[in-house]
Amino acid sequence: MLPLLFKVRHSHYTRSLRLLSLTTAEAFSGIMRKALRHSLRSRFANISASTARWLRKLKGSPWNMEVMTSRFTALRLSLSTALVLVIAGCGTPLSENWSDYTPPAAPAQIIATTPPSAAPEPEKKLERVAPDCSIEKCVALTFDDGPGSHTPELLKVLAQYDAKATFFLIGENVAKHPDIVKAELDAGHEIGNHSWAHKDLSKMSVTAAKKDLQKSDDAIQKAIEQKATLVRPPFGALAPSLKKSLDVPVALWSVDTLDWKTRDTKKTEKSAEKVKPGDIVLMHDIHESTVKAVPEMLKTLKAQGYHFVTVTEIIGKPKDGIGYGTGQSPATKK
Ligand SMILES: [Zn+2]
Repeated sequence: MLPLLFKVRHSHYTRSLRLLSLTTAEAFSGIMRKALRHSLRSRFANISASTARWLRKLKGSPWNMEVMTSRFTALRLSLSTALVLVIAGCGTPLSENWSDYTPPAAPAQIIATTPPSAAPEPEKKLERVAPDCSIEKCVALTFDDGPGSHTPELLKVLAQYDAKATFFLIGENVAKHPDIVKAELDAGHEIGNHSWAHKDLSKMSVTAAKKDLQKSDDAIQKAIEQKATLVRPPFGALAPSLKKSLDVPVALWSVDTLDWKTRDTKKTEKSAEKVKPGDIVLMHDIHESTVKAVPEMLKTLKAQGYHFVTVTEIIGKPKDGIGYGTGQSPATKK
């Protein structure tokens, strides 16, 4: 009882309750004292001499007014203690010092309050926290010319390594496989525009090139209900006037795996050796040999402490109309 009372007294919550109960008990005992005095006085005024003597004898007995008043003090203390215990017992214990307090056991079964016909709440997706590439080792893997038939397999591999990549899509292929584009976006990858049909934009008028990019963007918008966040021109070729007029950043690359040329899984895997922190790696997910090389590349780079991020994440805040990555224009390329 005493340790419990001690802890009760140390809770802010119960301290207020104790104060309240003491005040109540004080008021109560005050009223009782007054009532008793009044009662005794009125009795003494109308009593006979013998009764008065008897009452005077009573003085000194345990029933006289002083003794009774002190008994009321004791009663007051008992009342306040009891009130504290009763009220504190009814409330929720808030004291952090209540070390030996055992919370009541949870009910064995919680009865559902939602009617069974109600639609289940959609699962909340956790917001990804991208690594800080100014401190951590980051690499941006990029896959061009898709989506293609090998892309779903690539998405599985990337998911196994929690790797994020950037896909530079051909509008024509987006129109054929909008579901794959949606899967790319849903998996947290970045979507870039790689023109409508892989024609050299630098050999077109600015108006024609912009129209080509817009056509591809419309297909992307239709597939994923949002625009591409980057542009990568086919062959990395872009007239400076077109680059300046674009309302998205231009992303080239800093490591070319030449996967499109070798079509050799082992050679593509080996290109991971060229990677330095901050690199943007160029690959093509339309080739099976490339998709087969990705697991080994991810394994090698992960062992070296690399984080696989999107192009926007590796650049930080890319600006519209600015080119990132050194890029190349391989003349022999598609
Ligand atoms: Zn391309």
